[in-house]
Amino acid sequence: MSSSQTPAVIYIIKCKDATKNISYIGSTLNYKARISTHRNDFLNSNRKLYREMRENGGLDNFQSSILCVIPRWTNASEYREVEKSFINQLKPTCNKNVPNRSCKSWQKLHPERQRIYNERYKMKYPEKVKQCIKRWSEKNRVISNEKAKVFYKQNRTLICAKMNKKIGCICGCVSNYSHIRYGTHRHNRKHNTLAVLNLQNAKAKLKSNPLNINVLE
Ligand SMILES: [Zn+2]
Repeated sequence: MSSSQTPAVIYIIKCKDATKNISYIGSTLNYKARISTHRNDFLNSNRKLYREMRENGGLDNFQSSILCVIPRWTNASEYREVEKSFINQLKPTCNKNVPNRSCKSWQKLHPERQRIYNERYKMKYPEKVKQCIKRWSEKNRVISNEKAKVFYKQNRTLICAKMNKKIGCICGCVSNYSHIRYGTHRHNRKHNTLAVLNLQNAKAKLKSNPLNINVLE
């Protein structure tokens, strides 16, 4: 995307009614064509600018004007940067996307929305996520191992205390955390038999439940 031949235009669309603070800032290489696309989108699009236009007097109640013209540029990000500074300065109400904003800075601004998006993605494409984690860990194995070694050295006492803590297993036995979580306990025949038996008992309890008590709580 580079052409210094066509000047870039930064424009604003504003409501003629000064009491209503409705505005939008955009950039284009063809001002006339861009304004006519706005006119076409006015009736069909559900974007905020067009919704506001429809609810506040329609096209006749809005006017567009040029904020500045950038005659020479080598990369689109240059005039998008000018557009961004106008947006920061005039604070238009209908701009949703900030130009030249990187994905990472958006993630920093909206950590909660990013977390929800990640959770949904994980549920939708579990196989893809699994493959991605596998590729990442293969690529970063050496670094990860080094980091883990340093972490272990620094937190040795805490880690040992956690690993040696006694916890109960679903089979009914009580043993060290490390033994139940990472050891061979889960592959042990006694554990499997007792775990299945306990699950069957819980299910049976759930079936004959005259007082309607949730046994899993
Ligand atoms: Zn067990």
